[in-house]
Amino acid sequence: MFDLIIVGASAAGLSASVYAARRRLNFKIITSDIGGEVATSGEIENWPGIIHTDGLSLANSFKEHAKTNGVVIEDGKWVSEVKKEDNIFLISGKNPDGSVFEEKAKTVLVATGVHPRELNISGEKEFRNKGVSYCTVCDGPLFSGQVVATIGAGNSALESALMMSGIASKVYLISKYPAFKGEDVLINKVKASPNVEIIYEAMTSAILGENFVNSLEYKNKAGETQKIEVKGVFVHIGQIPNSSFVAGVELDEAKQIKVNLRGETNVAGLFVAGDVTNIPYKQIVIAAGQGVTALLSAVDYLNRNH
Ligand SMILES: Cc1cc2nc3c(=O)[nH]c(=O)nc-3n(C[C@H](O)[C@H](O)[C@H](O)COP(=O)(O)OP(=O)(O)OC[C@H]3O[C@@H](n4cnc5c(N)ncnc54)[C@H](O)[C@@H]3O)c2cc1C
Repeated sequence: MFDLIIVGASAAGLSASVYAARRRLNFKIITSDIGGEVATSGEIENWPGIIHTDGLSLANSFKEHAKTNGVVIEDGKWVSEVKKEDNIFLISGKNPDGSVFEEKAKTVLVATGVHPRELNISGEKEFRNKGVSYCTVCDGPLFSGQVVATIGAGNSALESALMMSGIASKVYLISKYPAFKGEDVLINKVKASPNVEIIYEAMTSAILGENFVNSLEYKNKAGETQKIEVKGVFVHIGQIPNSSFVAGVELDEAKQIKVNLRGETNVAGLFVAGDVTNIPYKQIVIAAGQGVTALLSAVDYLNRNH
């Protein structure tokens, strides 16, 4: 029986783990990867104390910090259920080899972030990793000198188009809205990029190819189907919280876990931190701070209840 199991090993989970180790809790982290979205964040210039770094380096230094404090990180595991029975949490899921695991803990800290929303159109699944990507930072350099499309209207689509304008020969930026929803500074940079062509009010309807992507189709404002030749398609149309595996927890309309200022949920002993919560502004420093808040609340809960 653990005092605590942390699910997720990124900004929120790893920050919490350093505090948990220093408070000498009997705990471990169970996670599908180490670094999460931090590792795919590209250039980072807003982590206090480090003027410039990249996501992978920052994620590695989070990991090293946790390991230096003796934190056990069980990587490659997928948690499919967290439920509370008789005041104890049962955490179950799959090991990397597909076998099933089950753990028991007095408290759980969920720090599982979000995953990219899909377009749900023809060809999207078929060409995933064969031209279709949800991470421009990870896969963008593979499309050097080629024509690509980014789909989306927010900051991450704008960042994707900007990054690809320096790598690809041409970038189509396809937005279903008549305007972008991101920051003005990014919008202005994209509009000033000579090799970015913006297509507004366009619904991407199919991704086509043979072994790899070679084109995509969209419906324009008039409802006509248009086809453009592209080798890569970067999908940045929003994120879905990784919250569905937690039984009985209260979610908001966007499926984010509702959390209070102490990192508590409606389930006593279940704490939550980072992008999976309904706290606004999804940022590394915010996730890290939330992780620590939730951990200190978990310590308080253990002191009072176990
Ligand atoms: C392209 C991009 C650029 C960004 N740039 C910046 C930036 O410059 N500055 C900034 O502050 N923020 C940036 N962000 C946001 C930042 O990455 C997030 O706010 C931060 O990663 C949130 O951390 P987290 O710990 O909540 O979750 P995540 O980083 O999403 O990590 C979630 C963890 O949970 C694990 N997990 C998820 N589900 C399960 C499950 N069922 N079972 C087991 N493990 C699970 C994952 O493996 C991962 O370890 C960027 C994001 C993106 C996408």
